[in-house]
Order: sequence, then C-alpha cells, then structure tokens
Amino acid sequence: MNLMDPGNSSDVLRATSSIVLPPLPYAENALEPVITAKTLSFHYGKHHKAYVDNLNKLITGTDYSDLSLEEIIKGTAGRTERAAIFNNAAQIWNHTFYWNSLSPKGGGEPPSALKNTLEASYGSVDAFKKELAAAAVSQFGSGWAWLVLEDDKLKVIKTANAEDPLTTGKKPLLTIDVWEHAYYLDYQNRRPDYVNAVLEKLINWEFILQNIG
Ligand code: FE
Repeated sequence: MNLMDPGNSSDVLRATSSIVLPPLPYAENALEPVITAKTLSFHYGKHHKAYVDNLNKLITGTDYSDLSLEEIIKGTAGRTERAAIFNNAAQIWNHTFYWNSLSPKGGGEPPSALKNTLEASYGSVDAFKKELAAAAVSQFGSGWAWLVLEDDKLKVIKTANAEDPLTTGKKPLLTIDVWEHAYYLDYQNRRPDYVNAVLEKLINWEFILQNIG
C-alpha cells in the first residue's frame, strides 16, 4: 500500500486497507487425528474466509474501512445497529486466535513456568483443564471457551456466538471454538470428546505463555 502516492483517491486507499484472512499457522492436516483436514479445510477455508469476505463487503466505503480489526470490534460492540459488522469482525479475530491456541506439538504437560502459574490459580493442571472443559461443554449453543487475564488473575470464561473478551477489558490467553462447525464432521454431537481431545493433544501452552507476556 503506497499511502504517499498523491494520485491515490480515498476510494483506492480504502480498497487497499481491507481486512485479510491470515494464513493458517500449520498445514490443514497437521492437527489430525484430533481435528481432520476435512474439518479444518471447511472451518478455515469456508467459515473463517466467509467472515473476512462479509466484513469487507460491510465496511467498504464506510469509516470502518480505515480501522484495524480490533478497533472495529471495540467500536461496534454492544451496538445493535452495527451487529453484522461486529459479528463478522469478532469472528475473524476469534478464529485467528483459535488457530494459534492449537498446535500440532501441543498438549501434554505445560512448561514449568506455566505449570506453576496454573497450580497457583487452580490447584493443579488437571483442575484447570477440567474447568476449561466444563466451560466449553456447558456453553449453550454456539460460542467460545476462554482462558483470560482479568485484573492480573487467570480466569476461565465462556462467550456466546461472536462475543469476545476484548470488549469487556479482559486479555485473552487461549480459546476453544465450540460452534458445531468446529467439531461436527469429526465428533458429531460429542462436544465433550472434541474438547477433551483438544486439551490432551493440541492445547498450545506456549501461546498462553506468550500472551501472559
Ligand atoms: Fe469456528
């Protein structure tokens, strides 16, 4: 994008500042057998991409087209008349965060620094995993389970539909997508099996540590 080009009209600037679909951080088959390539190709290539395409259609030619994704999310949260923009923007952000919350090298024991932190907050790593699994399984309908920092304390929460913790002043550390599209091809109605497999085999402990900072 050449912002210095005096020939650029504002329309051109807006066209070049569109929201893009970030690349997946691994191959589509990298999370097998917990999440199959078929699920990932639909989830990333169709669902995540559709949110990007929809948002770009909704914001083209509006004041939102010059804003970052986070600015769009925070600027539209809780505004009924902007629900379509918020839903698509937040879903883009949530999915990118979700891909990074999983890793082909994930699962198992957390690094010792994180293990100590989790033990201090939850008593044990297992107790933490149980609390996150309970949030993921009990979310009624579509939504997300999260580990967040709130007032410097670890907290497990769940959100409905596209809602995310950015809008309520929390710092997201990890998320699990519990919309049916995340697991139905692989697990049908067995959401607990999907959640437990993710926690045992794919949870990206390093990502949590990075986000704690
Ligand atoms: Fe999803």
